Amino acid sequence: PDDEPALHVESLDVTYGRALSALRSVSLTVPHGGVVALLGANGAGKTTLLRAVSGTLRLHRGAVTAGRVRYGDTVLDGRDPVAAVRAGVVQVPEGRRVFAGLTVDENLRAGGLGLSRRAPAQVRRARDRVFALFPRLAERTHQAAGLLSGGEQQMLAIGRALMAAPRLLLLDEPSLGLAPQMVHRIGEVIREINTQGTAVLLVEQNAGMALSLADHAYVLEVGEVGLSGPAAELARTDAVRRLYLGET
Ligand code: ATP
Repeated sequence: PDDEPALHVESLDVTYGRALSALRSVSLTVPHGGVVALLGANGAGKTTLLRAVSGTLRLHRGAVTAGRVRYGDTVLDGRDPVAAVRAGVVQVPEGRRVFAGLTVDENLRAGGLGLSRRAPAQVRRARDRVFALFPRLAERTHQAAGLLSGGEQQMLAIGRALMAAPRLLLLDEPSLGLAPQMVHRIGEVIREINTQGTAVLLVEQNAGMALSLADHAYVLEVGEVGLSGPAAELARTDAVRRLYLGET
């Protein structure tokens, strides 16, 4: 058994329906304990890549038509979300998707359900970790999630994912629509989660934030990897500065 697994996406092709090719020959690695950023314009295929890793592709009528997704020894392409969660891979979907009618506490408990027959003590420990990261959630355990602010809902979405004790966290645009101060806070939290030993694959429109957190970055261009390299190096390239960091 591989106790320090890495994510390997190898020459992956994904299509939606019969005709729409969303990813072509995409290869990417997230090392154990690393932070990797995935950048690209709208529609480049970032969300599709996360879906292919987290087993949610089929829920969106997509399919892997070639290539492989492995996490350590576990093959993940063509599997379902339960298989991914069991392997230690959990996605936080874009747009947060918390259960608005459930309380904060109920949302967190739902996140722990993927792991069957977990001891109550383990669930409590996971919850304590979430509350340590997000004290604001601890103050609002009985509040309906739909009444939280956008930033608080993002915290809850991340917290819910952490309840499954992932070794690799897939984050889809966590900063989307949040005020600058909250974006900063989310960045700090991602760093903290990584310091605690969880690897992160981070999809972001906010390239500045993503490149400051990541060790390594990939840029998707209409379904293919355009650029990739150490995050600090990419941040210095002309194309990335112009297209993704808004410099002229
Ligand atoms: P965004 O930043 O807008 O979320 P993205 O880089 O995440 O963009 P994807 O959402 O992965 O891009 O989309 C890649 C391509 O696949 C786009 O052409 C998109 O229209 C298409 N696509 C995404 N989901 C589906 C679906 N469920 N059915 C059909 N086509 C889809």
